[in-house]
Amino acid sequence: METNPEVIAGVIKKVLEELTAGQGPKQECDGLFPTVNDAVEAGLVAHKKLIAMSLERRRDIIASIRNAVLNVNEEMSAMAVEETHLGRYEDKVRENILCATKTPGVEDIEPRALSGDNGLMLLEYAPVGLIGALTPITNPTGTVINNSIGMISAGNAVIFNAHPSATRTSTRMVQIIHRAIVDAGGPPGLVSSVRTPTLETAKEVIEHPKINMLVATGGRPIVNIVLRSGKKAIGAGAGNPPALVDETATIRKAAQNIASGASINNGIFCTCEKEVIVVEEVADALVKFMQETGRVYLLTPEEAERVTKLVVTPERKINGAYIGKNVQVILRDAGIEIGDEYRLAIFDAPADHPLVWLEQMMPILPIVRVKDVNEGIAFAVKVEQGNRHTAIMHSTNVEHMTAFARAIQTTIFVKNGPSFAGIGLGGEGHTSFTIAGPTGEGLTSARTFTRQRRCTLVESFRII
Ligand code: NAD
Repeated sequence: METNPEVIAGVIKKVLEELTAGQGPKQECDGLFPTVNDAVEAGLVAHKKLIAMSLERRRDIIASIRNAVLNVNEEMSAMAVEETHLGRYEDKVRENILCATKTPGVEDIEPRALSGDNGLMLLEYAPVGLIGALTPITNPTGTVINNSIGMISAGNAVIFNAHPSATRTSTRMVQIIHRAIVDAGGPPGLVSSVRTPTLETAKEVIEHPKINMLVATGGRPIVNIVLRSGKKAIGAGAGNPPALVDETATIRKAAQNIASGASINNGIFCTCEKEVIVVEEVADALVKFMQETGRVYLLTPEEAERVTKLVVTPERKINGAYIGKNVQVILRDAGIEIGDEYRLAIFDAPADHPLVWLEQMMPILPIVRVKDVNEGIAFAVKVEQGNRHTAIMHSTNVEHMTAFARAIQTTIFVKNGPSFAGIGLGGEGHTSFTIAGPTGEGLTSARTFTRQRRCTLVESFRII
């Protein structure tokens, strides 16, 4: 019997190639399919082909994806803003660069080994197979790039189903990534989407028996839907990140960081500061320094009331027409004209103001004053509402920061920086545009999209 490992590996590869030969989509496939079923069948074949390939080839595929999305960045960022009417072009460009360069690749699934008196244990991160990924309107390019790199690095195939108002952009991104995979010698159908994603096709993806894992990036309702699917599901849900500023903070720096963090992409990142909670004694200074950035407009109480009436409906819901819009557009509709240099409007808000409690996703930021840091921590925990998403603190008191981090229990906790530092933009660590607070995986990466498999060799291979 043949025992040479290289020969055996060659035989396995040949068998797998024969098994998959002649199946799956033809080379001219562009990653978009008429039905969910077609995409599933193609994805299953592509997944088998991918795991029959070497890791070196997988690394080439990932490198090709990174290059391809960087090459089309300007065009795709413009398309995202044009189709969804959300966010800012220059911030979409930053988002795509971040996803292309700081999403971990194949290195993220490096195996673990443990040797001891009883021999050797090897832990490998194996693919789950075929993943259904539901993507949000807010990041129609970034999520597709980030999920593709992570899921394929882990050896999976993925079917995307985009938000109905972002289908042109997200399906185009799927096509670009698909092309990059095939150009690098990867299997067609490895990333896919139906040509016209809808809520009905999302339902088909969720219920399809051959899809092994669901990943939902969006609001609370869709996270709850995938969690009820009976499949392994990863839920990356909504946030309402508070930024807490105490009396020990470097106030000018805090003001600059909050202005940048809350206004990036007009506030549509789930991680953006959505309300500021500031200790009374430094509140005036914070507001003054925010104004001094030259990008922050302070609304008078009367203007704040008009803006609130515009962006919050009588049912106390966010008026979707203003999500992700430039601050000038929102204020103009409230009868307030401001210059093009502004990125954000702030106002003094009472604790029960709706914009403190609702995830507004627009560059209108309420500021709530509190007596001291303890009151601030307690209030911030309440307004975060158990999303376990993101919180930000500006302070130089380590005990205050520790107390807040312990109390709020968020997936991301940023100290003395803008919120986006927590997703790796100007902060350490990898990026993720699928931050799984509800299901606990945190900032997802390739390893998240795996099954752990253990191999134990008894009484051998401890060599010391
Ligand atoms: P959304 O929940 O409306 O949509 C997300 C996805 O779910 C879309 O593909 C949509 O088509 C699908 N979907 C929604 N309801 C569905 C239903 N009933 N049946 C089938 N599919 C359904 O969210 P959105 O408006 O696109 O994105 C903004 C939200 O996403 C915000 O709440 C934001 O905080 C959150 N978000 C979270 C993260 C994170 O990493 N945690 C990242 C980005 C956005």
